[in-house]
Amino acid sequence: MHRNKVIVLFDGYSKTVNSTTTLANCTCTLVKGKNSCIIVDTRTSWDGNEIIDALQNHGINVNDITHVVCTHGHSDHIGCNYLFLKAKEHIVGHAISNKDEYRYTFDNTTTYAIDEGIFIMSTPGHTLDSITLIVENSDLSENSVAICGDLFEKREDIDDETHWTSVGSDDINQQRKNRQIIAEMSGIIIPGHGPKFDVTPEIRSKLKEQERIEKSS
Ligand SMILES: [Zn+2]
Repeated sequence: MHRNKVIVLFDGYSKTVNSTTTLANCTCTLVKGKNSCIIVDTRTSWDGNEIIDALQNHGINVNDITHVVCTHGHSDHIGCNYLFLKAKEHIVGHAISNKDEYRYTFDNTTTYAIDEGIFIMSTPGHTLDSITLIVENSDLSENSVAICGDLFEKREDIDDETHWTSVGSDDINQQRKNRQIIAEMSGIIIPGHGPKFDVTPEIRSKLKEQERIEKSS
């Protein structure tokens, strides 16, 4: 049976320099499906050569990429989309495009399948059209892997919510709800600005508690 392959090419990071400056770049992930080769979040526009090299280390050429998926449209998540001109689709939030042709077949109420066991779902919060790529049947986990962009900033933001609330959330209540939903349905989370982590029962109950407090306040 085919197993989907998930390879984190770059761990994202975010570091405060001072009150007006932050250093940040996103997690960039390669997913190899049965009939697809997907890159998720393409870092800043200055990272082209590094991305080309990282793909090459896994035997992938930029022209092999069939789908570019950006969890949302911020500059540190879409910067190198220009490398992947043979891709069938560039998906940025809810917008699915090829050259100048835009298709709106995906929204908050639907999911969008890319390949066997690989699909996108809406997880609004950080931005209102933020999305998460779900990879089932992968080499990383018995449960689904969620590549979720800035829905989760990093593992630490579960213990200290200010890590995600302080970097900007267009809808804090929806984001909190979607964080809980994604943790419930996945075994591994690949966050927007930190290394991947296992979803433990403690993490699930903590997120559920945060959602409960939010609802009752
Ligand atoms: Zn980000």
